[in-house]
Amino acid sequence: MEEINGKTKITGIIGYPLTYTLSPAMHNRAFEALKLNYRYLPFVVEPKNLEDAIKGIKALNIQGINVTMPHKETVVNLLDELSTEAQIIGAVNTIKNDNGRLTGYNTDAGGFIRALEKESFNPAGKIAIILGTGGAAKAVAVALAQAGAASIIIVGRSINKAETVASSLRSNFQEISVKTLTFKDNLADISQIGELIVNATPLGMKESGDLLPVPLEFIKATHFVYDLIYTPLETALLNGARHKGARASNGLGMLLYQAASAFEIWTGTSAPVEVMHQALIQGLKSGDRPDNVQKKNSRVST
Ligand code: NAP
Repeated sequence: MEEINGKTKITGIIGYPLTYTLSPAMHNRAFEALKLNYRYLPFVVEPKNLEDAIKGIKALNIQGINVTMPHKETVVNLLDELSTEAQIIGAVNTIKNDNGRLTGYNTDAGGFIRALEKESFNPAGKIAIILGTGGAAKAVAVALAQAGAASIIIVGRSINKAETVASSLRSNFQEISVKTLTFKDNLADISQIGELIVNATPLGMKESGDLLPVPLEFIKATHFVYDLIYTPLETALLNGARHKGARASNGLGMLLYQAASAFEIWTGTSAPVEVMHQALIQGLKSGDRPDNVQKKNSRVST
C-alpha cells in the first residue's frame, strides 16, 4: 500500500460505541487493490459531539464518511444536501464532501437492491412483505418502492410504527399499494400472495438463539426470503425457507453493496466488489466476530 503522504485522502466511519465494524477492512483493501491514495479510519463520536464531528469533516477536508448507529437519523439535519432516498428514509449512512459541501446518501437502500440483483431477483411488479419497522426496514421499503415493487406490506410489533413507515411510502410513491399489519394478525392471506419476504428484525441473530420473526408455516416454496442478518450467515428463517424449497439469502450482500456504493460515491471509481467481499468473509471468520462482541454490546455497526 502506498505510504501516507500529503495527498492521502481520508475517509472513515463515525458511530458510538463503534465496537465492531467490518467497513475499514473492506474499504482499505479496496483502496489498496485499486492503488488509490486513500485511507479509511474509525472515528468514535459520542452523540453530544456529532455536530462538531460534522464540522470537522469540512475543517479537515475529509473526503467521505460512513455514518452508523446512533447517528444515522440525527445527522440528516447537519448536512447541506440529501439524496432523494436519504430524504425519504430520513437517514444517512454515507456523506460525501465536495469542496466543503456535504451531501448525505443512504446506500443501505441501493445496496439492498444490488444484493437482490446479484441473486437475480427483480422486485419490479412484485408483492413484498417487510418484517420490522426500524431503520433498515424503512431503507428496504423505500428501495423496493424506487425499484418498482407493486405492493409493500409492512408487518411490525406496533401498528403505529408500521403506519409511520407506510405513510412516508404512500406520500412519496402514490402508485404503490401499501398495507400494514402486526405480527399478532392472521398473516396466512399475505403469505399466499407475497413473493419477497424481508426480515428486518434482529430475530435470528446469534444472541437471540434460533428465534423466528414468523412461524415457518408462513414460508412457501414460491417465496424469495431475504434476511438482513449476516451473523449467523444461516438463520433459522433461512434454513427453514431452504427446506421448504424457497430461495433464500442472508444480509451479507446488502452489507457488501452498501459499502461498494459508498466507495463509488467517494472515488468515482467502480468498487472492486470481490476484494471487498473477501475482506468481509475474512473479518467474519476472525476471532473478533460481531456476534462475540454483540454479547457484550448488543449492536453491530455497518
Ligand atoms: P432497529 O431500527 O432497531 O429496528 C428493529 C426492528 O425489529 C423494529 O421494528 C423492532 O420493533 C423489531 N423487533 C425487535 N425485536 C423484535 C421482536 N422480538 N419481535 C418482533 N419485532 C422485533 O434495527 P435496524 O437497524 O432496522 O436493523 C434491523 C436488522 O437488520 C438487524 O438485525 C440489523 O443487524 C440488520 N441490518 C442489516 C444490514 C445489512 O447490511 N445486512 C443493514 C442494516 C441492518 P420495535 O420497533 O417494536 O422495537
